[in-house]
Formats: sequence, C-alpha cells, structure tokens
Amino acid sequence: MSYNPLNTKTGKLIIFSAPSGAGKTTLVNHLLKQHEDKLSFSISATTRSPRENEIDGKNYYFINKETFKKKIEENLFIEYEEVYTNTYYGTLKSEVERIWALGKTVLFDIDVIGGLHLKSLFKKNALAIFVAPPNLSALKERLEGRGTDSSKKVEERLAKAEIEMTYANKFDVIIENNDLETACREAEALLLNFIK
Ligand code: ADP
Ligand code: 5GP
Repeated sequence: MSYNPLNTKTGKLIIFSAPSGAGKTTLVNHLLKQHEDKLSFSISATTRSPRENEIDGKNYYFINKETFKKKIEENLFIEYEEVYTNTYYGTLKSEVERIWALGKTVLFDIDVIGGLHLKSLFKKNALAIFVAPPNLSALKERLEGRGTDSSKKVEERLAKAEIEMTYANKFDVIIENNDLETACREAEALLLNFIK
C-alpha cells in the first residue's frame, strides 16, 4: 500500500529528476506538447526570481520566502527542499489534486531528492525517471548555453550535479540525454507504457 498524503484517490505521476541542465525541462515540454490530453505539469512554488522567459503560474508560482514558510506551516506542500542555498522549491498538494481531478497524469520536473521522496510516497503509481547528461563537461556547456544563470550559479549547480549523479540508480529508469531526438522518443515510449 502506498501512503497517500492527499484527500483524493491516487492517480498516476511521472517524475523527471536530473542535475540542472541535463534536459528535464526540454523533455517534459516535449511530452506536454505531444500529449496535452493525458498530462499536466505540476507547477511548483519557488522563492527564486523568474527568468526572462518565465511566467508566474505557468512555469512556477514565484513567491517570497515569508509566503513559502507560511505554506510550510499550513502543511500545504507534499514535499519541499532548499535545493540551492537560500532557494526553496516545493510541490503543492493542491496542484496534484487539481490535475487528478481532470483525470490526467501529473508530470514533475523536480530535484533528485524531491523525486525520490515522491516515489517513496506514491510507489507503483509513480514512474521515477532520471535524466543523465553525457558527462559533466557537456552539462557545463548546456548550462552556459542556456544563458539563464550567472557563472557563480552555474558553478553551484555543477558542484551539486556530481552528488546528484550518484542517485541515478535509485530511480525506476535512466534516460541518457545525449541525442535529444532519441531521448524524446524514449521518454514518450516510457510514458505510453506507464499510463496505458
Ligand atoms: P534542466 O531542465 O534539466 O535544467 P533544460 O531542459 O533547461 O535542463 O536544458 C538545458 C539546456 O540544454 C537547454 O538550453 C536545452 O536546450 C539544452 N539541451 C537539452 N537537451 C539537449 C541535448 N540532448 N543536446 C544538447 N543540448 C540539449
Ligand atoms: P530551476 O531553478 O533550474 O528551475 O530548478 C532548480 C532545481 O529545482 C531543478 O532540479 C528542479 O527540478 C528543482 N525543482 C523544481 N521544482 C521543485 C519542487 O517542487 N520540489 C523540489 N524538491 N525540487 C524542485
């Protein structure tokens, strides 16, 4: 039996975790575009500032630390983490309930610890996918190429990536994101098999 921290009947969840820059957002967006009738993205709350192309209520709920802490006290999160120093991210119970009420599978882009936490809560109702970059230098290139983080932040993300890579084998499956098209095809096959 899996422990369900929510008030609803458990639906399905697909979790994408990886070091920052490995390509989870790219894969998640691909799946959402192809299968919007079956899937919906779990919009996390975060205390980080929005990037130039990000929209509040679409990519994240951007909230300040005080509001985030209030939500913790009110027990509104399924899970949350201080993913980077002083920067919090969390999954709201209301997001998952909203998506299941639509009869859809919830898609997560979440850090490695948060992903394993959700897997431990929802067990066989959850498919936990680890997205692996070819190597750390490719990861550095991708983070620099994305151009959304300062060089200090890129260094912090790379340092964390080395630790995150050691968790890969704890996931249900690993997708090696070398060639993007191949990785997208693999992700789609896993999705269709899991929700059938
Ligand atoms: P994450 O969500 O894991 O932080 P992103 O999806 O934002 O990663 O990808 C990081 C950067 O790498 C983006 O600029 C994206 O376009 C690029 N990228 C993703 N997959 C590949 C790939 N297979 N080959 C080369 N670049 C990639
Ligand atoms: P970014 O700042 O690049 O959008 O995300 C940084 C990291 O936080 C990524 O690994 C992302 O998957 C993770 N993340 C996003 N939302 C959540 C969440 O709700 N919970 C946890 N634990 N991590 C999250």
